[in-house]
Amino acid sequence: MNRQIAVIGLGSFGSSVAQSLYNQGHDVLAMDIDEAKVQDMMGKATHSLVGDATNDNVLRELGIADYDTAIVAIGANLVASVMVSVMLKNLNVKNIVARAEDKLHASTLERLGVDKVVQVEAEMGVNLAHSLFHPNVQAYMEILPNYGISKIRVSSRFSAMSIKEIPGWNGARGSGLAPLLVSRGKNVTIKPQTDYELRPNDWLVLAGNDDLLDDLGI
Ligand code: ATP
Repeated sequence: MNRQIAVIGLGSFGSSVAQSLYNQGHDVLAMDIDEAKVQDMMGKATHSLVGDATNDNVLRELGIADYDTAIVAIGANLVASVMVSVMLKNLNVKNIVARAEDKLHASTLERLGVDKVVQVEAEMGVNLAHSLFHPNVQAYMEILPNYGISKIRVSSRFSAMSIKEIPGWNGARGSGLAPLLVSRGKNVTIKPQTDYELRPNDWLVLAGNDDLLDDLGI
């Protein structure tokens, strides 16, 4: 479904969100106070414009209330981030997503009624900590402390090996690790059985306890 999304702040985070949404076929307005950042977005968003989002009139004239979602991708400038979020709230924007630099910033935005707060640096830090010593874990999403979902690239060592034959799986079986899917090229198998035979370069997605994942020889 095609949606109208405004992205405010085109640093590395905002510009990659804007471009990715545009590539998905959404109608993206990309805005920054810095003309060079706006120039860089040309052709990578539906509309790009220079403007100060802390100016109430600028947001009103854009008709921002008609957008499905506004993303406040200003991080370091806490005052601007909070001001813009308050103004978007006052303008009754349906869905506001804002980036926070730290916990205090995040809780401030939540109290203002921002619908979704993302702490990019903290999430990336957790992701890296979980994948650092497992070169085949390409991405990790924490669900709760010590529980998460890992996306694993199957190495050639596991050629023709089933999931339950992965070294260390026996200890994990039934007690805390669940295979969610395997993808092979364009084919996806949801909830594969543990006797599913893996091939090199498959993607294996496992959910569960981090300690059990650490015990796996992946
Ligand atoms: P990133 O970490 O995403 O690279 P950054 O470090 O460049 O971001 P931030 O302070 O988080 O800097 O700001 C992100 C973007 O928001 C910058 O490009 C900045 O010019 C823009 N920005 C800051 N204040 C405003 C504002 N009032 N209106 C519009 N854009 C703004």
